[in-house]
Amino acid sequence: MKYDYDLFVIGAGSGGVRAARIASLAGAKVAIAEEYRIGGTCVIRGCVPKKLLVFGADYQQLLADAPGYGWTVQSSFSWPTLRDRVQEEVTRLSGIYLSNLAKAGVTAFEERAELVDAHRVKLKKSGSELTAERILVATGGAPYLPDGLPGVELGITSNEAFHLPELPRRALIVGGGYIALEFANIFAGLGSETRILHRGDQMLRGFDQDIRAHVHVETERAGIQLKMKATVTKLEKSSGGITATLSTGETLDADVVLFAIGRHPNTAGLGLERVGVKLDSEGAVIVDAFSQSSVEHIYAIGDVTNRTNLTPVAIRDGHAFADTVYNKRPTPVDHATVASAVFGRPPVGTVGLCEADARRSRKSVDIYRTSFRPMRTVFAGNETRTLMKLVVDGETDKVLGVHIAGDDAAEMIQLAAIAVKAGVSRSRISACARAGLQPARARRTSSPSADQRRSDSLREQSGDLWQVQMAA
Ligand code: FAD
Ligand code: NDP
Repeated sequence: MKYDYDLFVIGAGSGGVRAARIASLAGAKVAIAEEYRIGGTCVIRGCVPKKLLVFGADYQQLLADAPGYGWTVQSSFSWPTLRDRVQEEVTRLSGIYLSNLAKAGVTAFEERAELVDAHRVKLKKSGSELTAERILVATGGAPYLPDGLPGVELGITSNEAFHLPELPRRALIVGGGYIALEFANIFAGLGSETRILHRGDQMLRGFDQDIRAHVHVETERAGIQLKMKATVTKLEKSSGGITATLSTGETLDADVVLFAIGRHPNTAGLGLERVGVKLDSEGAVIVDAFSQSSVEHIYAIGDVTNRTNLTPVAIRDGHAFADTVYNKRPTPVDHATVASAVFGRPPVGTVGLCEADARRSRKSVDIYRTSFRPMRTVFAGNETRTLMKLVVDGETDKVLGVHIAGDDAAEMIQLAAIAVKAGVSRSRISACARAGLQPARARRTSSPSADQRRSDSLREQSGDLWQVQMAA
């Protein structure tokens, strides 16, 4: 054989691991290198530990609502317990990723790899050089820190937030995107006095405007302080912890300052440009629909391509690459209409076009919107509201977008995404919703059971989005 491997994958995160396994199972000789921990961002310092911390934070609201349901609860919270248990789970999952690679016949190197020439990679720790017919760049991304900010070293990113020695009494979070809202939810839920500082006048740029406005109100209702239209100009150590000077001239004291201001593709020092791989202005690898770069045998998938930076997309990219190249099934990846969720307070689920984008691209747009207080929280005396919104093509009646802010939005949006992706019409959804309700009643011959009565009453009180509100 001319090369040591058919495929060398750089980066063992969500995308790289999937690609390596599928290529190896298809008969290729595959190696993978990982410079930090097998599993990548999602498993080690992203979705998984973040979601576990969100689950932990959710108990705060449940405990607050519990007396309304007759419970008397005495509670206290231990950050070291949650932090350490989360890390144990991360280690367990990383081990599973490693053993799955071995089971699929992939050779794993737990060290950094860089390109030496177009078919050769160097492993930085051992110094060995290996050749491969094809190279897959799956190196993901890393958090930005503000360039040149005095005292920036006093701040942290999400990478460090999972390992804090203690829960901050006061957390200051800079940014207004996914990570800012999710860590605000975590810190506030676990008991920190939490403040978000954002340069814009509303968070979640790119999301539907109604959702952004709703999130603003509900985040404040949840006890998170919002400071909009301001940035940090300086961080200093002070007797009170860290003092942040703002662009407005004000100062704020905090114990932890978390920068959540976006992520950049991990391409620095990889040697890609040297071998002719084209990068965009942010350093992302430019690829075609089959994840092929400007160099024929070098491919890139996931966050390093900065297309849609989400785990299911990186996994899909990786699988499609392996199918295209090693299973001889050319599979382009469609990055349009991908559902996403922000695990904030409230959680947000979104898929498809927001109202503003729909109005820009369609002649006529219908909006269906409902806002209500869920029964579970009303009963507990909690004022939280849920917002649901459908964006519909006024000419074809097709659902173009679904946007939800409220409990379980992240789960609901997965199902909504199927309808949007399938091009289902709003009237079809309404018809199906009605059909779901009718037969159960028609079948009933004797008096309804207690369970049946209760589920009917829940259905009636929950408000039927698909049938009621026509707002514009
Ligand atoms: P990664 O998973 O980042 O893997 C890349 C790997 O390459 C890393 O392990 C890195 O160490 C390694 N590497 C880099 N350079 C080299 C080199 N030269 N040699 C060897 N190894 C190298 N997405 C969701 O869909 N849902 C969520 O809830 C969610 N939550 C998130 C929460 C946080 C805090 C963060 C930061 C991200 C979150 N994401 C979430 C995004 C998600 O983690 C990424 O989209 C996903 O991990 C991308 O996968 P990837 O394979 O492209 O890269
Ligand atoms: P986002 O792109 O979501 O948000 C970045 C925020 O930082 C924006 O509000 C942006 O403001 C602001 N910002 C950017 N630069 C500066 C600056 N120099 N000073 C002050 N504020 C600044 O990035 P995140 O870091 O939150 O997350 C990165 C990506 O990771 C996400 O986009 C997503 O793809 C993925 N992710 C997904 C999650 C999920 O699926 N649940 C969870 C976490 C991350 P502006 O809006 O004005 O540009």
